[in-house]
Amino acid sequence: MNTTKTIKRQHKQLNKLDKLNKLNKLNKLNNQKGFLAVIGIVIGAVLIAFAAMVLFLTLLVSDGTKKKSLDQDVGAKVTNNDTNNDPTNNDTNNIPTDNTTNQPYKPDEEQDLSTGYLVCVSLPGVSANRTPALDVRVARRYLAVKQELDALGIPTVRFTWAFRTNCQQINIVPSGRNPKAKPGTSPHEAGRALDVVGLDPSSGAFRKNDYFTIVKVFQNHGWQWLAKKDPPHMHIDAGEVGEVSNLVWIQKAQADYKRGGPKGGCRGPECGS
Ligand SMILES: [Zn+2]
Repeated sequence: MNTTKTIKRQHKQLNKLDKLNKLNKLNKLNNQKGFLAVIGIVIGAVLIAFAAMVLFLTLLVSDGTKKKSLDQDVGAKVTNNDTNNDPTNNDTNNIPTDNTTNQPYKPDEEQDLSTGYLVCVSLPGVSANRTPALDVRVARRYLAVKQELDALGIPTVRFTWAFRTNCQQINIVPSGRNPKAKPGTSPHEAGRALDVVGLDPSSGAFRKNDYFTIVKVFQNHGWQWLAKKDPPHMHIDAGEVGEVSNLVWIQKAQADYKRGGPKGGCRGPECGS
């Protein structure tokens, strides 16, 4: 019996050993698999890092190329013969001493014309005591008329009135059939009207041959002609220059006169006629 028990015990021990061996083998296999997995991850990481580096280097090189071509462009601009910004060239567009016009003021496209003010204008027939002046925006339109009349060879056009002070509007005596506006309402008080000699058929100075051309040229530049109602009279409407109304415009022009305008040596007495 003892021998049999011993043999059975030995069998059990052998079985245990066998199981242990199998477990060990499994563990080894597992360990090997884990090791392979780690190797795989490391190789993967190295590949990704490499790829990233290649990408980075590619971007770096292309950026460098861009910078280089930009440098070349700048270099080309500096050394070429483009003289647009050369302060020593012969572009005389802005030379302040140009004397190609006989205009009493120089229109400046950049100045703010939204408020307006009186300027002296060379108007044949209007003497200094009648302040030969117009609102600056109206003066521009008169100069455009003058240029066109000159180009057409029309003899000098003369005038009797341009700007009027309120006092002058009160004092003026209507001549012939030409009406007189109520003081405080006349377009002349805004510096937006001209009375032209030669447009009135009932006047001895009527310009039978060219009055119609004169009227057309004024109208070409935005002037209103009242024809029979007031033949010599031409004016620019308030809306034409962005003024709210004739009355507001009159207040501005009269205020400019009271402040000492127009500047430029043509200012006449307040109540002269
Ligand atoms: Zn008039």
